[in-house]
Amino acid sequence: MENKMKNKTAVTLLCASLCSTYSFADDDKVIYLTFDDGPINATSGLIDALDEAQIKATFFINAFHMYGEGDENEQHSQLALAKLLNSGHLLANHSYDHMLHNCTDGERSGAVYCNEVGLWPVKSYQDASTDYDYFELNTQKVLALLPNAESFPNFKMRTMARLPYTNAWRVTKTFKGDGLCATSDNLPPWDPAFSCDPQVSTNSSQVAVKISDKLASEDYKVYGWDFDWGPVNWGVDYPAETMADGIQMVESINQIVNTCPGKTMDPVNSRTQNLDCSDGLAANKVVILTHDFLFEDGPRGQGATINLPKIKSFVEYARAEGYRFDTLDNYAPQWQQNRQYEATNFVSYQDKIYSVLQAHYSQSNWQPSSTPALWLLEK
Ligand SMILES: [Zn+2]
Repeated sequence: MENKMKNKTAVTLLCASLCSTYSFADDDKVIYLTFDDGPINATSGLIDALDEAQIKATFFINAFHMYGEGDENEQHSQLALAKLLNSGHLLANHSYDHMLHNCTDGERSGAVYCNEVGLWPVKSYQDASTDYDYFELNTQKVLALLPNAESFPNFKMRTMARLPYTNAWRVTKTFKGDGLCATSDNLPPWDPAFSCDPQVSTNSSQVAVKISDKLASEDYKVYGWDFDWGPVNWGVDYPAETMADGIQMVESINQIVNTCPGKTMDPVNSRTQNLDCSDGLAANKVVILTHDFLFEDGPRGQGATINLPKIKSFVEYARAEGYRFDTLDNYAPQWQQNRQYEATNFVSYQDKIYSVLQAHYSQSNWQPSSTPALWLLEK
């Protein structure tokens, strides 16, 4: 209770400077923990750690691991995916192959080649139609191995996506943005000669924008991130265990919550340059990006030994600070009957997001999908 009071005060103080931009919901602050680039062998241990901490996370997966094409420790990735589904974590779409079909010298392509040459964010997107199909393929490839996956309520591969490399958002009509410096046509972002003017965007970035638009038009929500929980010196010299520990993470999150952090994030290729948070949907919410492969022991360092326990301590510190954890399908809270909705509110209903057109007290037969006078479908 004391913590809760303290947070209300903090929110009120922050509101003095930000209320022109945000309208705060009276909900607690929410952290969405998201894991990209699995499933791999390490995913199983990760699920155990999350279950022990009693939180649900969102996994943006690349099914090529289950076909042995991902160049990771992935022989048990299919088992890990089944475990993920059974344990209630959200399964979302990160494209079949992380766009590595575009990492090519004309003869070779794919994960093994790309890991050799290290040019992951170069020419990552080439043709909007072809590259978009790799999201659809991802779903088909999962269902080919686990045909009953679609019967799980936490299977969201047809409705929730994240672009590889790129901090892009398509959530509401206004809450959207693109990582215009995320991928280049020549140098990788860590090359000292790399520079990026988001006004003069690259072909690869422009194709990514088209893919985000296409995903949105096909009823996907596209989610980026507000904070990257990665190793220090990510991309240069990065033993996995240099990830921030639990208390450091909470301190960082306290700094960025309600600042529309995607616009100011470092390095520049992590940014969503044109994100507009003014519709208030992002208030009190922080999306954390991290990666399954940071939680295994191996060439990257002692991820399982040293990083896995950081999840538990992070969750404990965050809860003590008044945060709760949720999955991204609840980025807008689920619609409920018998409650007051104000004109600033958003809800989720049947994997779509609606905003209130007219303040009202909800009734059981006034579902957002059937009352267009009260609710606007955000698409
Ligand atoms: Zn990724």
